[in-house]
Amino acid sequence: MTEGRHRLLVGSANPGKLREYREILSGLDVAIVGPSELDPVPSAPAEDAASFAENATSKARAYALASGLQTVADDSGLEVFALHGAPGVRSRRYFGEDASPEERNARLLALLEGVQDRSARFVCVAALASPDGHVELFDGEVRGEIAEEPRGDGGFGYDPVFVIAGDGRTMAELTPDEKHHISHRGIAGAKLRARLAGGA
Ligand code: IMP
Repeated sequence: MTEGRHRLLVGSANPGKLREYREILSGLDVAIVGPSELDPVPSAPAEDAASFAENATSKARAYALASGLQTVADDSGLEVFALHGAPGVRSRRYFGEDASPEERNARLLALLEGVQDRSARFVCVAALASPDGHVELFDGEVRGEIAEEPRGDGGFGYDPVFVIAGDGRTMAELTPDEKHHISHRGIAGAKLRARLAGGA
């Protein structure tokens, strides 16, 4: 039942992110909705700022203003040290707007062929915005390295090529619960969850 409960919009057109926020925030006394469940469906704001925090802030604020709902938006991505931090804030578009996740992963592996230092990290900034424009930020990161080939079929995006430091498995080889325990989004989401539990 969602009737009567406080509605929280997860402002993302990415089904993987939306699913993960539903899991991470499950059990809280909020009804999570995605943009496509609203009428009218708010259009996705541009993501053209130079940092995760700025993109998350502007996305959350735009969705909250358009919907009148408290909103979470996350800007996240993969930073590869040998690529000077790329794909970074451009993680979704770096290998072409229309490239499939499999194509992006294949292109990333091709770029790193023969590269010894494969260190990388996933970064997430989640912004919680109210319709009056007030924003709070929650962040998380996880360190690892880029695999030699994709492994696993859980998660989404770059998960099959990201090997977790000190673990050896790729992010796509984890169960959802295991991923949320250690991932950049899980860490940011735990802080967000504590904030919402303390007074949504
Ligand atoms: P944006 O934040 O919507 O601009 O896009 C983030 C992009 O970063 C996603 O489309 C993925 O390519 C990548 N990304 C972010 N978080 C994850 C994750 O948890 N696993 C794998 N890829 C991710």
